[in-house]
Amino acid sequence: MKLPTDPAENLAALIRCPSVTPAEGGALSALETMLKPLGFAVDRPTFSEDGTPDVENLYARRSGNGPHLMFAGHTDVVPVGDEAAWTHPPFSAAIAHGEMYGRGAVDMKGGIACFIAAVARHVEAHGGPKGSVSLLITGDEEGPSINGTVKLLEWAASRGEKWDAALVGEPTNPDALGDMIKIGRRGSLSATITVHGRQGHVAYPHLADNPVRGLMTLVDALINPVFDKGTKDFQPSNLEVTTFDVGNTATNVIAAKATATFNIRYNDTWTDETLQAEIHNRLDKASGRKKYRPGRKDPIEFELAWRDRPSHVFLTRNDKLIDALAGSIKTVTGREPKLSTTGGTSDARFIKNYCPVVEFGLVGKTMHMVDERVPLAELEMLTQVYQQFLADWFG
Ligand SMILES: [Zn+2]
Repeated sequence: MKLPTDPAENLAALIRCPSVTPAEGGALSALETMLKPLGFAVDRPTFSEDGTPDVENLYARRSGNGPHLMFAGHTDVVPVGDEAAWTHPPFSAAIAHGEMYGRGAVDMKGGIACFIAAVARHVEAHGGPKGSVSLLITGDEEGPSINGTVKLLEWAASRGEKWDAALVGEPTNPDALGDMIKIGRRGSLSATITVHGRQGHVAYPHLADNPVRGLMTLVDALINPVFDKGTKDFQPSNLEVTTFDVGNTATNVIAAKATATFNIRYNDTWTDETLQAEIHNRLDKASGRKKYRPGRKDPIEFELAWRDRPSHVFLTRNDKLIDALAGSIKTVTGREPKLSTTGGTSDARFIKNYCPVVEFGLVGKTMHMVDERVPLAELEMLTQVYQQFLADWFG
């Protein structure tokens, strides 16, 4: 039987499945077809939750005697946008000038296609790694991420699955394959502040209490001073005010209420608890300030509501895992990868609760864009990096 050793063939099969979140689109079936001949036991649990669409996921394990490596990723893709703007149809896997086009080519069906090709080559040449390899693949990474990785990890762990390390195949390289490994991620917190004032005539401000002045005072206290100067492994924490709303259509009325929403991306100086406490402290202190509210004696009346679940900051410190990956990248690409914690959050933030996790995949330049595409040479190179990594980490 022919094993799935060609990453381009694997990727073409996956791109042809229109798996826009939450649709399975045939992508998990295509994976199952590749994995079964390699000796993987495949499960495809579907998870549900009120108010969100059901999502099908895949967990596959090839058992062996030795440590257990997890490869994690997602087969769902973002919508194609203006389909007419694509040079080649987004689910055609067309090849032109040495590049394969298609939604998900780099984010991240390409990473999965390369990892499977790497395992297949190992099986063909050496009978497979001396240990267990599993693939934890969700169909809900680009969507609400509720019926995906979190539940799949819980589901697998409840069946006794334990992992020694995990590799996430998201596109981590800004410009060239080998640029960057992600070894951690910043945390993320969001909240809305509401300031209550008193409505009135702009010509008689002493009879009113303008909540915009109060909100400016509070927002000012969140922006100044900066939260920290960054750490050895992380850039400085940063707060951005993302909305500032009064909803007032009149120019001669002082409104009764104003709200602002902010998001903060924070480093390992903080935990979400210490950072929340710092923010409460800053707002409480600022509520008595007179800078924007001269002459007022009453403190600013405000509420703070935390939004969503916070994303925890994390940093992986596992030399065996990081060295095996960085060494494999150096061997195959000749590049010394930067060990980075930049960028948004990823599913690695959930996996880190189970085992050390690092991220390395394709070049991310065209992800989520019209004409998402990957050079075939890059697919081959990533497959070789993963092959070398399998040899080194298990060896
Ligand atoms: Zn992705």
